[in-house]
Parts: sequence; C-alpha cells; structure tokens
Amino acid sequence: MYAILRQIYRTGIRSEPAPASDATLDRRVQEIQADILRSVGRALAIRHLDTGSCNGCELEIGALGNPYYNIEGLGAHFVASPRHADLLLVTGPLSRHMLTAMRRTWEAMPEPRLVVAVGDCAKDGGVFGESYACCGGVLNHLPVDVLVPGCPPSPLAILQGILSAVAGRGETPVQSQSISGQTAENLG
Ligand code: SF4
Repeated sequence: MYAILRQIYRTGIRSEPAPASDATLDRRVQEIQADILRSVGRALAIRHLDTGSCNGCELEIGALGNPYYNIEGLGAHFVASPRHADLLLVTGPLSRHMLTAMRRTWEAMPEPRLVVAVGDCAKDGGVFGESYACCGGVLNHLPVDVLVPGCPPSPLAILQGILSAVAGRGETPVQSQSISGQTAENLG
C-alpha cells in the first residue's frame, strides 16, 4: 500500500494540463449553434454511410464526438436511420456492392437532404480508383453538396464541410465546394 502511494507521489501527474479557455473558439461555437438552428430549426441529424472506406475517415469522424470537437455540443448528432437524417455523410470509394444500398439510403431521407462526401476516395476512388469492384467516387452517383478532400481529412475540415453544407441549404446542390483546412474553393 505504502509502496503504491510512494510510487504515485514520485511519478506525479503525467497527463497534459487542460487547455485554457479560448474566447474566440467559444464565440465561434455559439455562431455555429446559431447557424444550425437558423438553417434547420433544431439539431442537425447526420447519417454516416461507409461505402467501402479503409476506416481512416471513420477515425476522424469518430473524433468529432470527443469532448474537444464536441459535435453534439454544436447542435448536430448522428442517427441510425436515414429516415431521421437531414444530412448524409459518405466515406470511402464506392464499392459496386454498396451502390444500390447508397442510393436507397439517400432515397429514404426526407427532403431537403444534404450530402457531404468525405475523403479523396469519395471524390474519385482515391487509391482504390475504378475497377470491376469499385465505381470510383460518389460524385457521379449522388448530388453531392460539399466535398471534403484529404486522406483522411481532419475532423475540423469535416466539421467545416458539414457546416458549409448547412449554410448552403436550399441552394442549388452541385459538387461545387471543396473544403480544405480553413478554405472553400470552387471545383468548377
Ligand atoms: S480517403 Fe484515405 S482515409 Fe479515407 S477511406 Fe480513402 S484511403 Fe481511407
């Protein structure tokens, strides 16, 4: 017992100190919450669909739920059914056996429905390309509102992609916006 206490005393606290509160970030969080409320009128429901990902993009999406990115605190949450979803978050190259499932998922969503494609694979198949087993990216198979490039993109870039889609809700859905880091650019 004493040996353990001595060990604890000698070792001390090894974890990093919590970051100081950031007033700019706090303000931005409030703006994001207001944006979501203004656009959707309630919490944003997101359905995630993996059409053949290596799971790299899923790890980054999973990070959105941690206390740092805190997506639920921003007023958005993941749902299990496309029938409850406002936004479809698609990852991975589009494997042929997921093509019908993806279309059905999208059709099951109530309108107006948003689509955010996450990762280079969702853009054009990425490292998997096109083959007998893979249709390439989802861009040619769904009306994608926002594309978030990267392999994998960071949680912040994914969050910005989601918010960009929400901000443009009701506008013509085109595969028009590419979110990278802090910027958005037209793909043309
Ligand atoms: S974009 Fe990269 S991390 Fe994401 S599914 Fe493709 S290979 Fe994996």
